This record gives sequence, structure tokens and C-alpha cells, in this order.
Amino acid sequence: QAQAQASGVSTADYPMNHEAISNPPDTANFVDNEFVPSKTSQWIDLRDPATNNLVTRVPQSTEEELKAAVESAQKAFPAWRATSIMHKQQVMFKLASLVRENMDRLAASITLEQGKTFADAKGDVLRGLQVVETACGITTQLTGEVIEVAKDMETRSYREPLGVVAAICPFNFPAMIPLWSIPLATVTGNTLILKPSERDPGAAMILAELCKKAGFPDGVVNIVHGSAKTVDFIIDDPAIKAISFVGSNKAGEYIFTRGSAQGKRVQANLGAKNHAAVLPDANKNHALNSIAGAAFGAAGQRCMALSTLVMVGDTKDWLPELAERAKALKINGGFEPDADLGPLISPESKKRVEGLIASAEQEGATILLDGRGQKPEKYPNGNWVGPTIITNVKPNMKCYTEEIFGPVLVCLNVETIDEAIALINDNPYGNGAAIFTRSGATATRFQKEMEAGQLGINVPIPVPLPMFSFTGNKKSVAGTGASNFYGKDGLRFYTQWKTVTSLWRAEDAVATKASVNMPR
Ligand code: NAD
Repeated sequence: QAQAQASGVSTADYPMNHEAISNPPDTANFVDNEFVPSKTSQWIDLRDPATNNLVTRVPQSTEEELKAAVESAQKAFPAWRATSIMHKQQVMFKLASLVRENMDRLAASITLEQGKTFADAKGDVLRGLQVVETACGITTQLTGEVIEVAKDMETRSYREPLGVVAAICPFNFPAMIPLWSIPLATVTGNTLILKPSERDPGAAMILAELCKKAGFPDGVVNIVHGSAKTVDFIIDDPAIKAISFVGSNKAGEYIFTRGSAQGKRVQANLGAKNHAAVLPDANKNHALNSIAGAAFGAAGQRCMALSTLVMVGDTKDWLPELAERAKALKINGGFEPDADLGPLISPESKKRVEGLIASAEQEGATILLDGRGQKPEKYPNGNWVGPTIITNVKPNMKCYTEEIFGPVLVCLNVETIDEAIALINDNPYGNGAAIFTRSGATATRFQKEMEAGQLGINVPIPVPLPMFSFTGNKKSVAGTGASNFYGKDGLRFYTQWKTVTSLWRAEDAVATKASVNMPR
């Protein structure tokens, strides 16, 4: 049973525990609506972050396997593009209901492979499901424009699919981020090659199975595995017209530059350093709970985690209370009902996060709450770091300039809202920012002056719902950030306009000489 589970070929449930799996099976590619075992000789071990037990091996797919996936997507494109929009909508309805029915199963795969708690993993699935549900409205969202531009002459515009498109996903939202692409890429008529994170592809494999069940024809959704080499193949294969990337700056800037140079459309959402400014007039209880939840939830491995606290004026006196709330959060295996946060994704990640905490100490900051060395009794071998609060941080310290991506909150003091705005805007990242205040005037000023894509006013993680787009800014997106994920921008990314001007007039044949002037 375990074998079938991890390779995603069975409808069996993932185990809802962290017990070792005997004979862990390999993860397969998904091509032409079939799970295809890889013939590669290079494999990536995927370990449960709570125990470091082997869960599965993920293939570094061979060039032949990658080519087969692209060929399948190319072959599927003409018929899928020609499929009626009502039919595509029906497939979306079906996919939405299947994702909902399989929510626990998807969440279990996430907890096992990624480490986040089971309750949080369900949120990961839900936020992806909402994109599928919104895509069901495609029949009104994909309309073009038409106007009579002159007598008997009209111009109309259509949105056409691009062809074969690709998505390259990060490890931290194994269901939500594949679901930023799967519904919108396909409902607009494209066919898709998706590369999940090699660190937790299980949820994507369940989604593949659900796509097939929902009625996607062979080749419309394909899933291939691997790391940098697979990504290079995706960038370079001329049949792939567009790439959606979400992940780190290092990989994303490379993919954006190299992909754009090949003439591809590339959208790339990157790293973050999200600040929360807390004003003395804030509702203290709400602010402290929101900050503790958003800094330490998912072990800080969210691109919208609030990792930086800017304490304005006397709010620095609230730190002991914040530390109490952080201390009350329990680290544990994600399937344990009392777990508030799970482990980090890998031993390397734990080492990196601990190194950044140590660097803060060396640079003169204060470790108010130290999560290093913490581990739950039942899972001594996991990649644990407990909630950590670093105070007296200065903007030149490494813990401030680098994205930590762990359960670590860095805290800076300022005296005024002006200083808070200047400090936050000086940071090169611009994914999200939040303010906690009761003053409408202060909030409005923050809203107007802040250079970040997603703002929360008394809201800690303001990830936009799918009728809007995910709108990162500055270094949190590659290039100009002109192509956002999901919402209206998402539809725009996956389609190109075609504009047709036509003249239908019975008395056309009156002129006797060809006109050589630009038509007016
Ligand atoms: P990552 O960049 O390591 O991996 C993302 C994808 O890129 C994976 O599929 C991986 O195989 C591939 N990849 C990695 N290195 C590569 C290389 N050198 N060349 C080509 N491809 C490569 O990112 P991650 O660690 O999985 O995810 C965490 C990062 O993602 C954080 O920086 C986080 O802020 C960011 N993130 C951003 C958003 C957003 O919307 N802004 C959302 C989620 C995560």
C-alpha cells in the first residue's frame, strides 16, 4: 500500500503518521495520463522532515522522458484548444469537487513530505482549490471585446492559448502553487508540463491522478521530476512557450533571464522579507497573536510569513508578551494534534537557519527566545528549530538582509511611522507588509506609501484570494513583475490577444482603383 501511495498511482490514503515506510517506492513521472516509472540512474532521496526516514526517491528524469512529456503536451494541444469552453468548465467543476473530496489525502502527503502540520496542510490545499473554483467562471472571464469601428466594419479581440506551457514549483506549498497553474493554464486552452519541487512532489502526483479523473484528455497535464537539469530542459525546449516559476531569487532570476532570452513569457515570484509595523495604538492582543502566528506558522517557511517586526515607539515593551506567545507554540510532528509548527524541510535548511541565528548573536543582536536545540521527544531526528525571536537588530545585520525562511522573527525599533515606512521601503524585497494600528489615517498613509505588493491592515498574511492576483513587488518578482499569478493577470499570462477587423458590405465593388494609403 505504501508503495502505491508514494508513487501516486493508488487511491489509497497516505499514512497519517510518521512511521518508517518499509521498501519506500519511487515517484513516477505522469505523462499522457499515465504514471510512468523513470528509467534514470539518478535519484533524489525524499525524507520525512520530522524523522528523516526515507519516503520515496524522486527521479532526475532523463532527456528522453522529458521529451516524451513535451511531445505528449504538443500532441494534446490542438484538440484541447478546440474543446468547447463549456466542456473545459465541466472539467474544472469536476476537478474542484475531486480536490475537495481528496483534501485529507492531499494534506497528509504534504505533512509527510513537507512537514507542515496537518491542519495547515489543509489550508495549503484549500487556497489552491479556491483557484480551481474561480477558474470555473471561465465562461465569463475569457470574453474578448468587440466594437463597430466604422460603418459595416467591426473589430473584435479574442484570447487564444499559447500552446505548451510549463510550471516550476517550490517546496513550501506543494498543493497551492501547482494549483496556481494547473487550472488557469488548462482552462484557457494550453497544455501543461509541471515540475513540482523535488523535495515534495507527492501532492502534485495526487493532483495528476485527480486531473485524469476529472476528464482532462491525455497529455493536457503532464508532471515531470528533477532539479536544475530538468529546469534547463524546460527553459531551452522551443516547444514550451511560457514558464511560471515560484521559488528562490537565485533560481528565479536565472530562469527569468535565460527564459526571456529565448523569447519565452516568464512569470517569476521570488523571495521575501515581510515586515509588520506595530503602532502603539494597535489592538495589542490581536497584533501579538497575529505576529506570532504569521512569524512561526509553517515554521516560517511561507513566502508571506511575517519575518520582521518593526516596533514603533513604546511597542517594544510588548516583547516579553510576544515571547510568551511564541514560547507557547509547540513544535511536533505535523500529524500530532498538538503540533503548532513542524520541522524545517531539510537538515541543510536547519543548519542554515541556525547559522543565521548565530550570526545575529555575533553581530551584536539579542536572542530573546532561542529555538536552537529544541526537539520533540517523539521525533528526535527531525530538522527542528523552535520559535526564535531576535531583538536589537540593525538593518546591516545578516539576519536582516537575508531571507531566513525559518521560525525566526527579527525585531527592529523605530520611533515614528515615518521611520517605519522608510525602513521597510529601503528593504530590497517587496512581497508583503502589514500594519497594526487603530488609526485610519496612519493605515491609509502606510497603504499609499508602502512599496510592497500585498499589504495587510490588521491582517497578518494578506495573500489575495483568487479573484485578485498575487502581486509581489521589487526583488520579490523577477523582471518588471508585469505578469502576476492567478486572477485577471493570470488569465492574461496564459493567453495572447488576437484582434480581427472585418468589413461586410454588399456594395463593395464600386471602386475601380486600388487604394495605397493607410486605411483610415
Ligand atoms: P528553490 O528556488 O530552491 O526551488 C524552486 C524550484 O526551482 C524547484 O522546482 C527547484 O527544482 C528549482 N531550482 C532550484 N535551484 C535551481 C537552479 N539552480 N536552477 C534551476 N532550477 C532550480 O525554492 P524553494 O526553496 O523550493 O522555495 C522557497 C523559496 O520560494 C523562498 O525564497 C520563498 O520566499 C519563495 N516563494 C515565493 C513565493 C511567492 O509567491 N513570492 C511563494 C512561495 C515560495
